[in-house]
Amino acid sequence: MRSFIVLSIFITSLLAIEVTNGKTAILPVDKSTIYVETRGYKAPIFHTNKNKSFTIIAVPYRQKNSLEVIVKTPTKELKKALHVKQGNYQKEVLQVEHSKVSPPKSVQKRIKNEYDEAMKIYSSFTPKRYWDKPFVFPLKTKITSAYGNARIFNNTLKSYHSGTDFRAPIGTPVYASNDGVIVLAKKRYYAGGSIVIDHGEGIYSTYYHLSKILFPVGTKVKRSQKIGLSGNTGRVTGPHLHFGIMLQGTPVDPINFIENINKIIK
Ligand SMILES: [Zn+2]
Repeated sequence: MRSFIVLSIFITSLLAIEVTNGKTAILPVDKSTIYVETRGYKAPIFHTNKNKSFTIIAVPYRQKNSLEVIVKTPTKELKKALHVKQGNYQKEVLQVEHSKVSPPKSVQKRIKNEYDEAMKIYSSFTPKRYWDKPFVFPLKTKITSAYGNARIFNNTLKSYHSGTDFRAPIGTPVYASNDGVIVLAKKRYYAGGSIVIDHGEGIYSTYYHLSKILFPVGTKVKRSQKIGLSGNTGRVTGPHLHFGIMLQGTPVDPINFIENINKIIK
């Protein structure tokens, strides 16, 4: 009987949740939950010291209408469609080097390989949680471009901004957002000098356009550890740090992610 009551409360609370494209959503779950799944990806479960349990899910930027979440408990598998509200994102018009909008044939294979390599990383799931303290920002400077801005490059290419840009003259130290393992550390065509940190359970932080990368792939890093120096490499209009969070294989608003996840781990 008790479990029936708990499930009823759970269903009611999920129904009440409206989620926004590009953001993360915190969902309360029963503490007996074995796993939570969305879009075929596993979502981490957090048990707070107040005897409550939550999960955090990513709502893709291009998600429309609804998003299905599966919650598996020892007695039931619940499927729920969450209503997806469209976020109020701004438009940006940018001018970059022509070759970064219409890349020459000679680099197209490189671009595809870099994309495939990154997607393979982001869609993988390390069961271990590498961290136990709140996430921090990689820099504490002004934000010069927010996540989710609809972007038009050189009046042709339409895209959206998949991270948050921080003001950073070339050579500004960049710090790890939390403990984890470096899983990518190289120069890439669009992202320039790039670092990706695996924090476990499908959570990755990304740092782009760097002028210097301090550690190779496989290095364990601590929260707030200096991992590189900012720069202006890759597709940029000027020096800055592009900081991103990948959750369940999709880029989400990093500021919103940090605010949300820090709420449930305290
Ligand atoms: Zn950016």
